[in-house]
Amino acid sequence: IPATLTALLAERTADSGDAEFLRFEDWSWTFGEIDTWTSRLAHRLIRVEGVKPGDRVAVMLPNVVQWPVFWLAALKAGAVVVPINSAYQRADLEFVLTDSGARVVVTDGDHLPLVRSVLDGDAALADVQVIDVAADGADSFPATAPDIEIDAGTLANLQYTSGTTGFPKACMLTHDYWVRNGWLCASTTGLNADDVLLTAQPFSYMDPLWNVAAALTAGAPLVVLPRFSASGFFADVRRHRATFLYVLGSMPTLLLKQPPDPHDRDNDLRLVWCSAIPAALHADLEDRWGAPWRELYGMTESGFDMISPLDDVATVGTGAVGVPVPTKQVRVVDGDGAEVPDGEPGELTVRGRPMMLGYWNRPEETARVLRRGGPPGNEGVVVGGGWLHTGDLVVRGPDGSIRIVGRIKDMVRRGGENVASVEVEAALERDPSVVGAAVVPEPDEVLGEEVKVFVQLADGIPADRATAEAIIERAGTQLARFKVPRYVEFVDGFPRTPSERVSKPALRERAATRPG
Ligand code: ATP
Ligand code: MG
Repeated sequence: IPATLTALLAERTADSGDAEFLRFEDWSWTFGEIDTWTSRLAHRLIRVEGVKPGDRVAVMLPNVVQWPVFWLAALKAGAVVVPINSAYQRADLEFVLTDSGARVVVTDGDHLPLVRSVLDGDAALADVQVIDVAADGADSFPATAPDIEIDAGTLANLQYTSGTTGFPKACMLTHDYWVRNGWLCASTTGLNADDVLLTAQPFSYMDPLWNVAAALTAGAPLVVLPRFSASGFFADVRRHRATFLYVLGSMPTLLLKQPPDPHDRDNDLRLVWCSAIPAALHADLEDRWGAPWRELYGMTESGFDMISPLDDVATVGTGAVGVPVPTKQVRVVDGDGAEVPDGEPGELTVRGRPMMLGYWNRPEETARVLRRGGPPGNEGVVVGGGWLHTGDLVVRGPDGSIRIVGRIKDMVRRGGENVASVEVEAALERDPSVVGAAVVPEPDEVLGEEVKVFVQLADGIPADRATAEAIIERAGTQLARFKVPRYVEFVDGFPRTPSERVSKPALRERAATRPG
């Protein structure tokens, strides 16, 4: 496999230049056309905006074809792309532009006023230049790539994490990271030129970017939808004859809530990949759309770590996330870094490639999560920068498959016991009257921390069921006594990260300002 994304694009252009690469609404572009367009824009970035290798180019766009186009163009200029969530408001945008040291922002007419007002309001950002994609001016620049040296270790992205457990930090991701993610995706699923990939996730979440890398690897087209809509999603899947999907987060649940359609199974799907499918829904998902749904575990820091392989049916639908991809090793360790026996919970650590170089401008945080060392007899051997401490609490089964049981940062330390928030949340959410539950620690003089839960109830729940006592009583029938919440607060909704996960830092703050 080529060492860089730019080399990969050149290779595909050489052998399949006339094949379709990107599709958006009623338009379509071949590998050759995207190669030419991105080369012209790379020249523009260099000549007009003065971009030099290593400069940061922020992209704040909705899902339009210019998103991947500007990504590849900036990479051809040797620049580093900073994806910005297009739903960001002023404070987040200002933070990311400042933290990343962006030199250019690529955006569109809808976001231009916000971008300009942030830049105008902050003297430190006065030199940042803005490109409106409606007028990219590409035509007046040369069609062959600029002569810039790029290798496997060249930075490609500063990719901010979701911010589920704390302030988002930017992972330094190289060309190697993307090429390997593309290769892992294609090789573990057998993607080839007959496949059609389709993505509806915002590009700033980065999943669409590995879809681009996979499409480049396989020589297959990628369909980019402007947005995810549960009601229209499978109509698009059918219309575009998509064969491969990646469906994230709450999407499976939302899709299953749609009324069944007689055409549900009239699709060309070969495989659907997803993260954290509720085990109870797995059979319904496969049955309804007639395709295998397989688990994928990954992090911004490390890309793909584990998958449930297509031919492995033993762990599918059990809540297990699968087995390590061929280029990764995993260990489940205790607080001292010693491996724990199978069947016991411990922190998931992974090593191998793809792997970030570290967090941008946060050497201490990097040293905390990326550690040297290795299995006995193999200490000091560092592949891809050491062992990544994922912060996820997992259990390994006798078959080697891994199950996620919680997040280490998302636990309540109650007396001598550790209570994983997810376990309590899952127990409460089994009750149909509970729409959502989120656990945080509540400071306690005796025990250190107590279990507090924020609960969102479904509409029209009878008053006698909508009390803290009723919630605590029902939790008591399902959970060990020390895990039962001591405090319950009812809410209408939860603070969320831009990627729609419940924001625990925001909830902890709320708990701190409104104790008990
Ligand atoms: P932050 O690190 O800023 O708190 P985050 O960890 O939510 O945010 P991401 O890198 O987007 O940001 O998400 C990685 C996390 O997603 C993993 O650490 C894990 O907790 C969760 N995850 C990924 N894949 C799965 C899966 N298949 N099942 C369950 N959880 C998963
Ligand atoms: Mg994380």
